[in-house]
Amino acid sequence: MNSLRPGLHRLRQRLALIWSLRDKRLSLWVALVGLVTAVLITLVWLAGRYEASQVQATLERDTMDAVNDIRSGLMRDVQALQALQANHNTATAWSAETIKLLRDHRNWLRVEWRDAHMQLRHHSDSPLRPPSFNKTPRSNVANEFLQACQRARRFNGPAYSSSYFVPQDDGLGFEVMDVCLPLVAAGETVGYIITSYSLQETLAEQLSPAFARRNEVAFTEPDGTRLAIIGQHGRGVRLFSATQLLDLPGLTLVLRVDGRRGAPELFPNVLTALVTAMSIALVSVLVLLVKDSRRRMKAERDLAEALAFRKAMEDSLVTGLRARDLQGRITYVNPAFCQMVDFTPAELLGHNAPMPYWPPEMVGEYQQRQAIRLAGNAPPREGFESVFMRKDGTRISVLIIEAPLINVLGQQTGWMSAFLDISEQRRVEEMSRTSQERLQATARLATVGEMASLLSHELNQPLAAIASYANGSLNLLQDPQPGQQAQTLTDLHLALKRIAEQAGRAGKIINSVHDFVRRRDQDREAVSPQALIDAIMPLVQLQARKLRTRVEIQLQAALPTVWCDRTMVEQVLLNLARNGMQAMDAPECTERVLQIQVRRAASNLEHQWVELAVTDLGSGISASVATQLFTPFFTTKAEGMGLGLSLCRTVIEQHGGHLEFAPQQPRGTVFRFTLPVHPSRY
Ligand code: ADP
Repeated sequence: MNSLRPGLHRLRQRLALIWSLRDKRLSLWVALVGLVTAVLITLVWLAGRYEASQVQATLERDTMDAVNDIRSGLMRDVQALQALQANHNTATAWSAETIKLLRDHRNWLRVEWRDAHMQLRHHSDSPLRPPSFNKTPRSNVANEFLQACQRARRFNGPAYSSSYFVPQDDGLGFEVMDVCLPLVAAGETVGYIITSYSLQETLAEQLSPAFARRNEVAFTEPDGTRLAIIGQHGRGVRLFSATQLLDLPGLTLVLRVDGRRGAPELFPNVLTALVTAMSIALVSVLVLLVKDSRRRMKAERDLAEALAFRKAMEDSLVTGLRARDLQGRITYVNPAFCQMVDFTPAELLGHNAPMPYWPPEMVGEYQQRQAIRLAGNAPPREGFESVFMRKDGTRISVLIIEAPLINVLGQQTGWMSAFLDISEQRRVEEMSRTSQERLQATARLATVGEMASLLSHELNQPLAAIASYANGSLNLLQDPQPGQQAQTLTDLHLALKRIAEQAGRAGKIINSVHDFVRRRDQDREAVSPQALIDAIMPLVQLQARKLRTRVEIQLQAALPTVWCDRTMVEQVLLNLARNGMQAMDAPECTERVLQIQVRRAASNLEHQWVELAVTDLGSGISASVATQLFTPFFTTKAEGMGLGLSLCRTVIEQHGGHLEFAPQQPRGTVFRFTLPVHPSRY
């Protein structure tokens, strides 16, 4: 758990870093989007303004042109009036000509000829409309034209009156202005021509219909009071307005032109259209960029999470990991590996053979192994065992599993190795092996203890025989029969021979036990089944005699030698024989025969087998005993240890064989076990 904590802390730091980078990038994006939007809005606004200023300038120009048109029209009118007076000074001719002029000028309402005292001599009203001064007599507006004529006389040229309103019969009315032209003869003012203009009609007459259609054109006073108006501006979003002074002698008018531009002409200006199109393109690109960046950020986040997950996994592993490149240099180690060999990553990374964790005595072998690996030879998939050295010099057993390191392009870039520390496993195995051995030795000693009591009993016979032969011989020597010396010698010879025989027998008995206890040879060897039987027979016979049991041996002909740990298998046989004989040691058991049979057993693919069976005619094994038969320390005997059968099974299984038991008919039990045949004897 403690080793996980730094890993988690590092992971948390990495995630915090990723989030801060993310926040930073997000604010950068927000700034960029804001900036681009501001630039685009400014551009569109500027383009709009530019366009508006263009429109305004055009309008101003048009207004100036309109004022010039009106002024030159009025000048032409004055010239026409001057021509009228010069050529037609008789009343009828004057009237006829004025009617003609009035017909040609729709904006003229009336032309008057007054004498030098402003008395009306002649006048003509426009034939194109009802007389305009019906409702308001001219005397009502005399003030206006009198002032104009006074100015005209002073200027000695045409002068205009200020405008005035003339109501009409239909309840409406219009603004009118008079122009007074002095008539001069021989340097004297002899009269005046006064022409009344309808301001509204003047606008309509002097300006082009197209201009009037596009704009609303009005004459206003300098203070803004509207006098006459024509045309109407279209419906538009934006109103443009231009004013221009129309300065006439005696009168100043303002021409005001209002026009609207906008909705009907969404992109009237190429620049605006271009800027707008570019803006849309830019915004689209920006949106795509944002989307792309969001996707990339997500991918980066996923990648970072996957990396963090992998890192946490690697850090929490108990398996050591190490990567090497194709030259054998260490390119990666995980914390578990560093912990295993007690070196820091800095001490290992970039290191090449010999590695600091190789035991000095193994360097040659490991270097050879590395050379084989780097030559491209894959190691066994199930891995191999090796020994590494920690920094403090202690050795550790490791299981190494190696595999080629393949990159995304499918090329091998090195080797990846996983390490399992199996030192503890090896220690436990060793411990269990020694304790097993100790148990076996204990069991053997227990058997020996049992044997010792049999031995004392058995040795009694030869020793008693030796003693009686020795006593007999002594008697013969102490009490020699005269004349029978030859006979005495023969008897003594026989007695000594018997003594030697009995001593030899006793020695054999002792040797058989001695051999059994002393011999502890771990190695397996090829042993003939007969030799196994022969080795245990003296000991079996010892007990058989005590328990009044007959032992029958049946060996199949031409049996192969078996491959086994001789001492252990002998003990198994001895255990089974002893158990069988003890099972028959009951009063109701009248027939006491122990059979030991050896025969070839069915062979499998790997081995051929020899089967050994020990059969008794004893009490048999009850179901409750059968379930615990191989449990260590299970025994039904007062002096038993309960280790025999569990050890027997371990020994047989260590040889690859198996031990089983079955009831025997009509009574008793048979224990069978198998041993592998020596390979060369197949
Ligand atoms: P021990 O002989 O010290 O009791 P074993 O493991 O050899 O230990 O035997 C365990 C028990 O199995 C014995 O106590 C006995 O009850 C039973 N047993 C073993 N062999 C036989 C047999 N041939 N017939 C009947 N019972 C047996």
